Amino acid sequence: MAQTPDKPAPKTPAMQQYARFKERHPDCVLLFRMGDFYEMFDEDAVTVSKALGLTLTQRTAGQPMAGVPYHQLDTYLKKLIAQGFRVAVCEQLQDASQAKGVVPRAVTRVLTPGTLVDDSLIEGESIGTLAAAFFTGSGDEAPASCAVMEVSTGDFVVLDADHDTIADELLRRGVRELLYASTADGKAPPRVERILKRLQISGTPRPAWHFRPQEAIEAVRKHFGVTTLAGFGLADDDPAAVPAGAIIRYLLETQTISEEDLAGVEGLTVAKATLAHIRPPRREHSEAACTIDAVSLRSLEIERTIRPGPTPTDGSLLGVFIGSSVSRGVCRTAMGKRLVRDWLCRPLRDAAAIRARQRIVATFIEDRSLAQQCAVKLDGVQDIARIAGRLAMGRAGPRDMVGLAKSLDAACVLAQVLEGAPALAGVRDALQAAAEKARPVAAAVIAGCVEDPPALARDGGIFRDGHDVALDEARLLQRDAGAWLGEYQRRLIEKHGLPNLKVGFNKVFGYYIELPAAQARQAPNELIRKQTLKNAERYTTPELREFEAKVTTAESRALDRERELFSALCEEALKVVEHIGRVSDEVAKLDVLLGFADKASRRGWTRPEIADEPVLRIKQGRHPVLDESLGSNFVPNDVELGVSGAIDDEAESGRKAGSGPTLALITGPNMAGKSTYIRQTALLTLLAHTGSFIPAESATIGVTDRIFTRIGADDALHAGQSTFMVEMIETANILNHATARSLVVLDEIGRGTSTLDGLSLAWAIAEFLAKDDAPRTLFATHYHELTDLEERHSGKVRNLHVEVREWPPGDPSAQIVFLHRILPGRTDQSYGVHVARLAGIPANVITRAREILGSLAVHHGPAAAVPEPAKPESLGKGAKDRAGQLALFTEYMKHPAVDALQKLKLDELTPLQAFDVLRQLKESAKDG
Ligand code: ADP
Repeated sequence: MAQTPDKPAPKTPAMQQYARFKERHPDCVLLFRMGDFYEMFDEDAVTVSKALGLTLTQRTAGQPMAGVPYHQLDTYLKKLIAQGFRVAVCEQLQDASQAKGVVPRAVTRVLTPGTLVDDSLIEGESIGTLAAAFFTGSGDEAPASCAVMEVSTGDFVVLDADHDTIADELLRRGVRELLYASTADGKAPPRVERILKRLQISGTPRPAWHFRPQEAIEAVRKHFGVTTLAGFGLADDDPAAVPAGAIIRYLLETQTISEEDLAGVEGLTVAKATLAHIRPPRREHSEAACTIDAVSLRSLEIERTIRPGPTPTDGSLLGVFIGSSVSRGVCRTAMGKRLVRDWLCRPLRDAAAIRARQRIVATFIEDRSLAQQCAVKLDGVQDIARIAGRLAMGRAGPRDMVGLAKSLDAACVLAQVLEGAPALAGVRDALQAAAEKARPVAAAVIAGCVEDPPALARDGGIFRDGHDVALDEARLLQRDAGAWLGEYQRRLIEKHGLPNLKVGFNKVFGYYIELPAAQARQAPNELIRKQTLKNAERYTTPELREFEAKVTTAESRALDRERELFSALCEEALKVVEHIGRVSDEVAKLDVLLGFADKASRRGWTRPEIADEPVLRIKQGRHPVLDESLGSNFVPNDVELGVSGAIDDEAESGRKAGSGPTLALITGPNMAGKSTYIRQTALLTLLAHTGSFIPAESATIGVTDRIFTRIGADDALHAGQSTFMVEMIETANILNHATARSLVVLDEIGRGTSTLDGLSLAWAIAEFLAKDDAPRTLFATHYHELTDLEERHSGKVRNLHVEVREWPPGDPSAQIVFLHRILPGRTDQSYGVHVARLAGIPANVITRAREILGSLAVHHGPAAAVPEPAKPESLGKGAKDRAGQLALFTEYMKHPAVDALQKLKLDELTPLQAFDVLRQLKESAKDG
């Protein structure tokens, strides 16, 4: 029998809606609300059921379907986001019972990596921002303007970046999703592709016209209701406003219901998102910050450690402030925790701004009672920045509102607490002004809402009794239907003199008034006959009917009324959302500065003096993270760069800042603590630039424009490149960009290649960094040949070494003890074999290594075989110092074959003898 091809079933109106939304959001999983479920169809259903382990069913023959119960939406959204899906949520806009025909629906939000706002989807202190990049030219090297927004709080920044710094800028700001203008071939342009790959974030192509300056800038103007951007510090044709406009368009499209879908819908059951919490874009200048590039952020383990610990921030510098398994955190609010991350990733470069922060920290340290009172109030402040975000996105619940109100109250008291402290006057005034403006809303919420309301408005029970007459009535009816009936019965009996009259209820007939059959004739006109029984007559009255109608709908009326009141309250709060944002800014700032003070008090941190000259002088500095995990076992150390005088010179008088050695060469065996020492110095310098005190006895730190580190190969960021290539790329970046105001930290340069190559490179790089106006540099190396540079570049280079003791002294099989103390001077040997033994290399291998070491030491030439001074031109890029190189290498060219060749008298040899000599030479070369 011939098969008739399957005719697709005609689409129901709901499925037509589905098809329309799916067409608008082809790249998303579409969750389509149908009654008590969110359903997925077709391919979405198949993919998601597999990914989340849902049951796959069929809606009609051949149409796959999978669904999740509406009250579990958040759980499933979390799983979908974690697996990298973009999700569009389509809601019913109207109560199904009120809808004529198919219930109107709309996509109310699209969840993407950069636009998450719900607490259930983002942890309090984590950030995930959205960015857009606009390139002001077509070439690969064209600069870019970027906009970055933290959608959950509305914080909005624009900045200009070079082609080679843009990825760093985005990384520092925690970007998770990047918008870019799509191209004709649908692929991301190579320069965008590079950023996405480097940061491992998702890219979202947007229509090219969204990035057309006129259109984009108009979107910004329209959203903020302004005719000019001058008030935001932006010119009206500012390229930086272009990506800002693209972000606004994206959010309007993904986070709000389209006008088209809203048209004609009455009695809307979902809250509309307004995006009112978005702050006007503020321009940030990269020169305002002490720049730390992405590589250094990672290798210094600022936000997280390279090898992840129990939590992402464990063991990182951030963990010292927000808490980890080894550190007691000091930030009290989620806003403070996010801000301290930002301050650590982008420290200040302006001495006055740093000192202003230090003054506040000092005030809190000196006045512990003030600090204590502040702490108590800060504990009472919830994450109001994110609550404001949810409010504007139409997603704030009653618990949010009560939390917001209590927090605003606490903020008002906090402002009063700060009264009288001069260093805090600025913060206090800003906090007070904003908190006062938002306070009436707080008062309304506190007066109207119960202490501990439910999380979701749909559950009711938000408002107090006595707050609203209509709500009270609805509730009273629900609770007191019996009492009302009793009271009504009493009234009727009294009014009509019928003592046997009863008011009752049954499920089939509802409320009734009953008279015994014998008294039916006395029934007043007011009673309307409803039902006749054998012995009784039943009636109703307009009042009873009205009561019945009221009671039966009381529950839904109470809920509706609560929802109405709650929306009104949210609307009021929205009017002050801008002030809530300001309160949150000031609270976050106070939280971090108080946290700095607490850390300083608890762990004996001191205030670094911020100098204008490029100096670095730290007495008894400690590594902020290891200091907490190792406690008193940590050995403090000094650093001096750019200060004349010796490191152990206690005499302060006559020292001239900025004129001493700027390059410290640190030698010492592996495991001695070189790497810890140089990282510690970078971390303390960074911390000083955030306004924090630092773990040291005292310090003077010159304002630093950039901190560069070249510490370990970062494989994740450079997949596909050799370790040595990565090392050289990173070093090149440093040599090309470091200025006299930078701090450079180099660990084991040249390790990834052959000894001669490595030593030559390390030597040349160290020389380059020893010139005038070179950055302050700490150079840890195992090439002790480099220590000769101290004499050759006297006054510029200082040798340091890590103290190691052999025990018993002089015994070839001695144990070594690492003292972790940094001392002036060079190291005499590398102790590599000792370290190998400590690591558990088998004893016979160690013995053999000692033999080989002994024989190599014999072959080594005199220590004088080191390079000639470099010619001036070789200190420029690309030049070679051939003479120096050759001299250096003779040390390694001592070989019996060479000696034999030198002694050979060619004139006295026959061809046959010559051949024999050649054969012997070959043999001896083979033996090594
Ligand atoms: P290197 O770079 O010389 O190989 P590291 O800096 O990696 O050595 O240090 C090796 C180990 O020594 C680290 O695990 C660290 O815990 C410990 N250490 C380093 N510096 C100190 C110090 N100042 N006080 C105490 N322990 C330290």
